[in-house]
Amino acid sequence: MSTTTDVLIIGSGPVGLTLANLLGQQGVGVLLVEQNDELIDYPRAVGVDDEALRAMQTAAIVDKVLPHTIPDQKIFMVNGDREILSEINPTTREFGWPRRNGFVQPLVDRVLLEGLDRFPSVQVRFGAEVVDLDEETDSVVATLAGGETLRARYVVAAEGGASPTRKRLGISFEGETRPSDGIVIDVANDPIGTPHAVFGGDPTRSYATIGLPHGIRRWEFTLHEHEDPSVVDDDAFIFELLAPHVPDPAALDIIRRRVYRHHARVAGRFRDGRIFLAGDAAHVMPVVGGQGWNSGIRDAFNLGWKLAAVVNGRATDALLDTYEVERMGHVAQMVAVSLSMAKEMTDHDPVAAAERDRIAANRTPEEREAQRRQAFKPQPKFDEGVVVHTPLPTFKTVPARDVPRLAGTIFPQPQATDRDGVRMLLDDATGQGWRVLTWNNDPTAFLSAEHLATLERLDARLVQVVPEAQLPWARENAAAGVTVVGDLGGDDSLQAWFDARPVGAVILRPDHVIAAECLTQELDDVLARVFSAASIA
Ligand SMILES: Cc1cc2nc3c(=O)[nH]c(=O)nc-3n(C[C@H](O)[C@H](O)[C@H](O)COP(=O)(O)OP(=O)(O)OC[C@H]3O[C@@H](n4cnc5c(N)ncnc54)[C@H](O)[C@@H]3O)c2cc1C
Repeated sequence: MSTTTDVLIIGSGPVGLTLANLLGQQGVGVLLVEQNDELIDYPRAVGVDDEALRAMQTAAIVDKVLPHTIPDQKIFMVNGDREILSEINPTTREFGWPRRNGFVQPLVDRVLLEGLDRFPSVQVRFGAEVVDLDEETDSVVATLAGGETLRARYVVAAEGGASPTRKRLGISFEGETRPSDGIVIDVANDPIGTPHAVFGGDPTRSYATIGLPHGIRRWEFTLHEHEDPSVVDDDAFIFELLAPHVPDPAALDIIRRRVYRHHARVAGRFRDGRIFLAGDAAHVMPVVGGQGWNSGIRDAFNLGWKLAAVVNGRATDALLDTYEVERMGHVAQMVAVSLSMAKEMTDHDPVAAAERDRIAANRTPEEREAQRRQAFKPQPKFDEGVVVHTPLPTFKTVPARDVPRLAGTIFPQPQATDRDGVRMLLDDATGQGWRVLTWNNDPTAFLSAEHLATLERLDARLVQVVPEAQLPWARENAAAGVTVVGDLGGDDSLQAWFDARPVGAVILRPDHVIAAECLTQELDDVLARVFSAASIA
């Protein structure tokens, strides 16, 4: 018997689960299949970033994720003598959420699974291993172990770093595998009790130790090349590893321990016809950067709205080509940053460690501050894809300033108010999906009837942002179909954002990326170019 669905997702890791939630929100038919009988519960990711939390907000599930996080978790990078090399503690809220959060992956993965109960169009099957994929003209046929076949318009292989689909399709996975394994140990009833994370670049044995929610503590150690991975099962070895870290290792309440290997690799393609790679199947990176999980969530967030638009007939298949175009460059940057951090903090090379310590000791206050702000973490910025780059205007009405153009970057998310003055995060005030957002103006005054009709078909929001003081007038006088949002003023406000650049309107994609920015009178023409870039049908 053959089951038919819009999108078949292979793998119930965080990436497959997040994608299923995002597609379920759009009423897309999803079948998610997982070879195991349950979710993976061994220790893996411990850091969730602000972009991922915004994606969870978009999936209307963030309130259930937050109870499993430690917001603003600080990292101390130390050397073998526990001297502090740098502190990483970005406390700003550009995208509405803390930028570094400790979290417990198995608990958040479970929240994502339970979130699927909200969507009648999403089905999940455990104990279902995909053993073959056969692409036909307008669908893909997946064969499960046991012989059952499933037919889907599109398949997303979110099946982890070993991805059988990537291998079957002959897609390269270039990069490197680190010479040493890592050992990870999670314990309950945290015997240390401090809230932060410590990354120890100790040339005798590198380590990380992290306080996690619910009284859990994580240790990670790098094994020496001559040490066999089976040491993970040797209590005496584990207690010896932990002896310099905790008063009584034998009394620890160990929940799970496991060996893992560091890889730094990116797939040569993220798309093959109707099949997509996402998450670890498309890219893997050393864990010290804490970006494997987060990068996979970015994949799901990027691909989710595009797949939904195509399946729901709002865009043509060409939109799906922009997934790889937009994601691959950023992922390559993230892999490179994670690899360089791994080399700096986990290599057991005393000469390199001494040089690292010397450089750290000579850092200027500005360099230390840049590290504290996590300035080394690359932000997504798309040069190509669903983005329209407009030139800096030269009209005398705007000062001549050489400001960066922000199309292709993520729009900020300050606190704002809804039309009634109730405070909330911007995305909640505007509503989700495509948004045409103008400062002060009524956006409908600048849009043709044809484009207004297209925006309605896309279920887009027309957003008029006004200073909070104007709300009583604006809500009385708003045009039909326009969402009025109140701006709170101050350094992080939208007024400050629009003050800083010669722009009066932005077109925002469902993943909060700025598709285009322009003066209001240019809006209709620029919107036409955005529709074209997004292959809107
Ligand atoms: C020690 C450690 C620490 C980490 N720390 C961080 C961190 O702090 N921050 C961070 O962002 N990331 C971190 N990561 C990385 C993060 O855990 C992974 O990037 C993330 O789990 C990948 O998610 P995924 O959904 O792509 O794949 P996975 O979670 O691996 O899920 C893939 C699923 O697909 C299933 N599957 C595979 N093949 C098939 C098939 N043929 N049919 C059906 N099902 C199949 C598998 O059983 C699995 O359940 C860490 C990883 C490790 C090991």
